Amino acid sequence: MHPDIERVLLAREEIQERVRLLGTQISADYKGKEILAVGVLKGSVVFLADLLRVLTVPVEIDFIAVSSYGKASASSGVVRILKDLDRSITGRDVLLVEDIVDTGLTLNYLKEHLLSQQPAGLRVCALLDKPSRRRVPVEIDYLGFSIPDEFVVGYGLDYAGRYRNLPDICVLRREVYEGGR
Ligand code: 5GP
Repeated sequence: MHPDIERVLLAREEIQERVRLLGTQISADYKGKEILAVGVLKGSVVFLADLLRVLTVPVEIDFIAVSSYGKASASSGVVRILKDLDRSITGRDVLLVEDIVDTGLTLNYLKEHLLSQQPAGLRVCALLDKPSRRRVPVEIDYLGFSIPDEFVVGYGLDYAGRYRNLPDICVLRREVYEGGR
């Protein structure tokens, strides 16, 4: 195990199984429709890549990037769009794909931003949720796992740009981010 990791919270096999089930559920719900999956950069890329391959309905992808909180792992509540969508979503069935919902501020902002462009529908698929940290209520239509309030990395999630390549979702040792949270 990587020396900065305290423990594995969700092992790769468990994630894979959950993603497979989410894909089955989403494919059934969108039967006869075409999905435009919008990944939130960069944390959702690994999840989106796996989810895409278990969807059985037609799907296109696009990406949106919002300001990260830099090295600090706490949510400042300030959301800024760094890269907007390439194409219009008006009239499309949009599935917003997020890595983790913490305070809910990012998701809340993104939902409003997307809804203002009149998609035919907008649903949210999030891999992880930390309900105990919520500051604004947000609805998650498809959720992978609800987790306790611990800072996690791996499977696309980073700390200061690192650890995204770890195949499991892991709790980062406190010493690594101490002072920054
Ligand atoms: P929110 O706006 O819901 O507070 O924050 C969502 C964003 O905060 C996520 O997209 C992610 O970038 C970051 N975040 C929140 N909790 C964690 C965590 O435990 N690990 C990592 N790597 N990022 C987190």
